[in-house]
Amino acid sequence: MAFERITQKDWYKILGAKPSDSLTELKRKYQKLILLYHPDKQSADVAAAEVEKRVQRFIEIDQAWKILGNEETKKEYDLQQREDNLTKEWPLHAQIYLEDMSWNEGGQCYTLSCRCGGNYTVSQTETKEVSLVCCDTCSLVIEILQ
Ligand SMILES: [Zn+2]
Repeated sequence: MAFERITQKDWYKILGAKPSDSLTELKRKYQKLILLYHPDKQSADVAAAEVEKRVQRFIEIDQAWKILGNEETKKEYDLQQREDNLTKEWPLHAQIYLEDMSWNEGGQCYTLSCRCGGNYTVSQTETKEVSLVCCDTCSLVIEILQ
């Protein structure tokens, strides 16, 4: 089944749940919230702005359950989350086009100074394969866009 990448929201958080929760647990949390935010359950003396907020919340909760309540979409979402967490482990400093780096004729490489005073260096031969380059001094990383 083709699965559209969902705009990244923390669906677990929206349900007040954890990724380790069982489906039964998720369902219980969903049902509790959906009752709480159901438009029909709102008392008449709630301000319009607050009602609007609750409707938004209701829609989010419903969306969260559509994704997490289905085994297939849940698996897909969990996978995406894991991938996102992996990329987040790289402290990406910037995205740079190769043209924006300075060409170093002597070293046959492209360089860019890091804000720490160190340098990012990528040799001409590496430019085709490498997209992430670490600073030679600190732990920052840049992504080279082709
Ligand atoms: Zn640095």
